[in-house]
Amino acid sequence: MLIGRLLAVCSKYRFMISADLQTKSPYSKFQFGVDLHRTKRRKSISIQVRGGGVRVLAPHRVPSEEIEALLHAKLTWIERKLREQEVIRERAPRSYVDGARWPFLGGEIVLAIGHGRAVDPTLQGNCLTVSIPSRGKHAPHEAAVRHQLEMWLREQARIRLVDFTQKHSKRIGRSPKSIMLKTYKARWGSCSASGNITYDWRLVMAPLSVINYVAAHEVAHLQHLDHSKKFWSCVDELCPDNRKAKTWLRRYGATLNM
Ligand SMILES: [Zn+2]
Repeated sequence: MLIGRLLAVCSKYRFMISADLQTKSPYSKFQFGVDLHRTKRRKSISIQVRGGGVRVLAPHRVPSEEIEALLHAKLTWIERKLREQEVIRERAPRSYVDGARWPFLGGEIVLAIGHGRAVDPTLQGNCLTVSIPSRGKHAPHEAAVRHQLEMWLREQARIRLVDFTQKHSKRIGRSPKSIMLKTYKARWGSCSASGNITYDWRLVMAPLSVINYVAAHEVAHLQHLDHSKKFWSCVDELCPDNRKAKTWLRRYGATLNM
């Protein structure tokens, strides 16, 4: 019964189930991606819903059945979150045509598409000129525009995130081993025990105060690898208005998408 309901409710979400979980099957019945992270640092299980996926953080020794039971118990909440995020995404259709609007640093940029010599996109005011090589009149321009836009956004993300990370690191007298960007499914950043910090580059679509908070959060992990009181007071010190940023991410995080 429950499984049937799960399949019915969740079939509209085409979520990937990670290879690791497919082999350990208990979660595959959920039909949405369950990204499981086991860590020695945690004392309890936590479930996060972001970007159409579900992330579970669990202590090392918790049995799979216990995690599965919690997913069942929280199913209504998970479904509601997934639906909300789906609605937000549908409300913000993106396109790669001339005049299309894209979120950038909490504001908007407008695409101006030129044909001719392929040069790097340039931003003037809120107008981003993307130039793609002119081929036949039926050439698939969209993929070329998308590629250029993504490369440009990634570079803009790198500049801001490296900047904030260095500023916060200096304050606590530590430095990350590396700063990398990737596309995450259900998180905005991570900091490994060896000090490698990774961010989701799509943060560049969020306001600077939000980018600043995520950097402060990951830098604070250079000192505290958990989410203890000490960790949060370090975040408070680096980024005093972190609560606003967290609320923003919960509310609009799903819109930071390509
Ligand atoms: Zn954290």
